[in-house]
Amino acid sequence: MGLRNIFTGIRFNFSVPKYTDIAVNFTDGMFKGIYNGKQHHVSDIATVLSRAWNVDRIIVTGGSLEESKEALAIAETDGRLFCTVGVHPTRCKEFEESGDPKKHFQALLALAKEGIQKGKVVAIGECGLDYDRLHFCPPEVQKKYFEKQFELAYATKLPMFLHMRAAAEDFCEIMERNINKFTGGVTHSFTGSAEDRDKLLSFHNMYIGVNGCSLKMAENLDVVRGIPVERMMIETDSPYCEIKSTHAGINFVKSLWPSKKKEKYDKECLVKGRNEPCLVLVKATIERYKKASDSSNTGSVAEVNAQFYQQEAEKLRNQIRNLQNTNRHMLGESVGGLPMKELKSLESRLEKGISRIRSKKNELLFAEIEYMQKKVKIVKCTVNDIPVDISFNQTAGLSALCFLEKV
Ligand SMILES: [Zn+2]
Repeated sequence: MGLRNIFTGIRFNFSVPKYTDIAVNFTDGMFKGIYNGKQHHVSDIATVLSRAWNVDRIIVTGGSLEESKEALAIAETDGRLFCTVGVHPTRCKEFEESGDPKKHFQALLALAKEGIQKGKVVAIGECGLDYDRLHFCPPEVQKKYFEKQFELAYATKLPMFLHMRAAAEDFCEIMERNINKFTGGVTHSFTGSAEDRDKLLSFHNMYIGVNGCSLKMAENLDVVRGIPVERMMIETDSPYCEIKSTHAGINFVKSLWPSKKKEKYDKECLVKGRNEPCLVLVKATIERYKKASDSSNTGSVAEVNAQFYQQEAEKLRNQIRNLQNTNRHMLGESVGGLPMKELKSLESRLEKGISRIRSKKNELLFAEIEYMQKKVKIVKCTVNDIPVDISFNQTAGLSALCFLEKV
């Protein structure tokens, strides 16, 4: 960031690959500027998307019937956006609270079909089991409606976007029982053990989604390291699950963005504590981490990092060298070796530059003259008892005094 500031307007051409962020909660209040019920800034999904230039596609998460409707509406606003339809384990009470669970299910199915037709709904979910937050929904209700949503996946032939927290055993049991309805899916925001990871990977077409929550502790890093790259998916789960400075994964974060507190909202900056899709660049980090840790023969994490930064530094050195050369040429130095074509283009650039500078200078000069004329003051004085009017202004005061001395 610092370097970009030094050469304002010059965009360094890092070769940045494009990513898909498979989990973004754009329906969350924080993207409407609301934090803990208090409005701090305007809705800013468009702003958030504008800085996610490294992201090719984003899947907006739906976590209830209403939220899935909203997710679809948001997905329809931008070509890069897609969404899921489903009910999150902590929200499964909504089936029964609706008064007619069957009708609720049909409404989800109809919405999924509508979204498929629009080319926007790409998965069933977010669904699964969350035993860390049983106060929202008891396990029996969670299990019942997790299982029910395999029917949605089966009916739509869509993959599943899954959530599993402290519930690996029941989760895998339900998976096994419904495996004939499962065409593929991702267990997102994975925070489980190595054993959980291997159980999940034993299911055909099951991927594992990794975000900041997956990189909290050193042990988490070890678990992530064991996910084959071709079975790993990348997500931010924004606005949640950022990589905090206290997380073990922080050392591998490549993306740097300026941020400000929500109270000092500035659309040019991230909001502190609110994760965003532009930060999905962490994927490159994970790949480097994996490369580094994959085997002892490729060297240590530190070596791979050092290698990466050496390459980046070399690129920057080249860019600085080119800028310095251009600068010298602009001053007419070291132009001996330049071919006619380049000399001509340099000449025309300089001429254009000079004419822009001249016209700006003239503009300022005219403005100054106008200003001076307005400030003309009439000064009366007497010379040899004869009244004399001397018109002058403050900047011309000196010549007026000379004139007075002469008379
Ligand atoms: Zn989740």
